[in-house]
Formats: sequence, C-alpha cells, structure tokens
Amino acid sequence: MDKLLTERIEGNLDLLGLIGIKKVYADLSKEAHKNSSSYSQYLDLLLQEEVASKQSHRFQLLLREAGFPCNKSLEGFDFTYQPDLDRKRINELFNLDFVLKRENAVFLGPPGVGKTHLAIALGIKACQKGIRTYFLTMDALMKRMRSESNQRLPRLRRYYQSPLMIIDELGYLPLNREDSNLFFQFVSHHYERRSLIITSNKGFRDWGEIFGDKVLASAILDRLLHHSHVINIKGASYRLKDKLKDLAEYKEIPKPEDLSRLSYTIKEDELKPLQAKRPRGRPRKARL
Ligand code: ADP
Ligand code: MG
Repeated sequence: MDKLLTERIEGNLDLLGLIGIKKVYADLSKEAHKNSSSYSQYLDLLLQEEVASKQSHRFQLLLREAGFPCNKSLEGFDFTYQPDLDRKRINELFNLDFVLKRENAVFLGPPGVGKTHLAIALGIKACQKGIRTYFLTMDALMKRMRSESNQRLPRLRRYYQSPLMIIDELGYLPLNREDSNLFFQFVSHHYERRSLIITSNKGFRDWGEIFGDKVLASAILDRLLHHSHVINIKGASYRLKDKLKDLAEYKEIPKPEDLSRLSYTIKEDELKPLQAKRPRGRPRKARL
C-alpha cells in the first residue's frame, strides 16, 4: 500500500476513533487478497473487529467505574456447597433480563453464603453487556447521600441514573430516621425505573429494626419487592468451609471414656532421656 494512502486511512481511522479497524485492516487486507474474499466479506471482518474492540473498551471502562471490591464469577460459584440453592433461578438471573425489565434482585442469608459473590458476579456480567453498574455497601451509600443531600445530587447523580445499582450489606448497621428517609427516597426513585441488587443478612421481618420504623420499612419493602427476585441462601458459610471440616475432624477425637480404654502405661526406660544428666566430678562452687 502506498505511503500516502496508508497515512490518509490511518488519519481518518484516528479521526473517527476506529481503533479496532486501525489495528487489523492491513493484515486483514492481505489475508482477504490471499483468500480472494469479497469486499463485503472484508468490510464485515473490519466491522466485527471494531465492534469487539469498542465492547471490550466499554467493558473495561464500566468495570473501573463500578467499584467492585474484587472479581467474582458465576463459574467460580460452587453450587454443590449450597445444594438448596435453585441453580436454574440463579442462571436465569444471569441472563440479566431482570435489569431490562427494571426489576430488582435481593439476596438474603447469613454471613459467608455467597450473597456478595453472586451480586458482584451479576454486576460484572452486566458491565460485560454494556450496562452501567455501580457497587456500594449500604454504609458507603448512606455516607455519600448524607454528604450530598444539601447540594441536591451532583455527585450522587450517577447512582440515581445508572440502570443497575448494587447495594451490599444492608442491615449490618441500623439507620437513624434521617438516613432511613434518604434510603426510602432512593428506593422510590428507582422503583420501576432502574434495577437494584441488594444483599442483606437480615430477613424482611427485621427490616423494621434496621430502619427504626416499621411503617417506613414496609414502604421500602413494598417498592423493592413489587417486581423482584428474592434469593434466600440458607446454607453454611463458605468462609468457614475448611474450618468446618477441621471441626468435623475434631469430632473424631476420642471421648474420655475411650481414652481410659486406650490408657497406656509408660515404661521406666522410656523416661530415661528425660532424666537430667548427673554432673560428673565434684559439684562446682557457685560463683558469687
Ligand atoms: P456473604 O456476602 O454471603 O457474606 P460472600 O459472598 O462474601 O458471603 O462469600 C465469602 C467468601 O466465600 C467469598 O470469597 C466468596 O467468593 C466465597 N464463597 C461463598 N460462597 C461460595 C460458593 N458457593 N462457591 C465459591 N465461593 C464461595
Ligand atoms: Mg457480603
């Protein structure tokens, strides 16, 4: 390809931000020539490359913005450890149709059962699909809402506007009246407009206690649960997986009655190595 033509093509690709095409157009052109591909086939390949490049770029951007504390995936979730969990329902959630329908997902259960794991995995999948997502703990969300409430939303706007918001650990700390009202406004704003994923270690019955007011809690629940998928994980903590195994082994330790059966009489000469060696010769005088 002559130099002028290359410069013009690459200049225009830069101008249009077609980075994916810029990377591959020369190689693909040679290949197309070799395979006698048609112009349409060549164009098709170029466009596929550009779309893939744009999608990957957007995914990385969304991932950075989302604020996930770590990387989790559905593939990394061990369903055999939670046999009561409905795998089909979880897989369905990962289609993310619920986000398109502006529905919510709520993960309930004791600590360590994988609520945050599944919420993050869903969030990452959403970013992969190009859905802007934010992840915050309830505590962090409330702190931000408190600091922004007087200035009407400039920094909070993204949390109000993103199609998916993950709020982790609702219920770890009780809220005062003002915070509860702020959260009610937040949930009301999202109702039927945007999706929320919430994780909580508290059952809905205890939400009155969290928000310090039963009426307010039921108003929040009313909006949250109207279109929602509630996943109750009842199993054992994955964090304690190995510890529980250790505990199970402890059960094998013989009981006192077994010990008496196993009682062992120490033979005299077995103690010999433990007996202090007698010093040879006259005992030394103690130095003063
Ligand atoms: P929760 O939010 O319910 O307290 P997490 O999701 O934080 O629990 O899980 C605690 C740790 O155990 C995380 O590292 C998570 O990835 C892991 N974990 C929990 N459940 C599973 C599971 N079923 N398979 C694989 N890892 C799991
Ligand atoms: Mg958690």
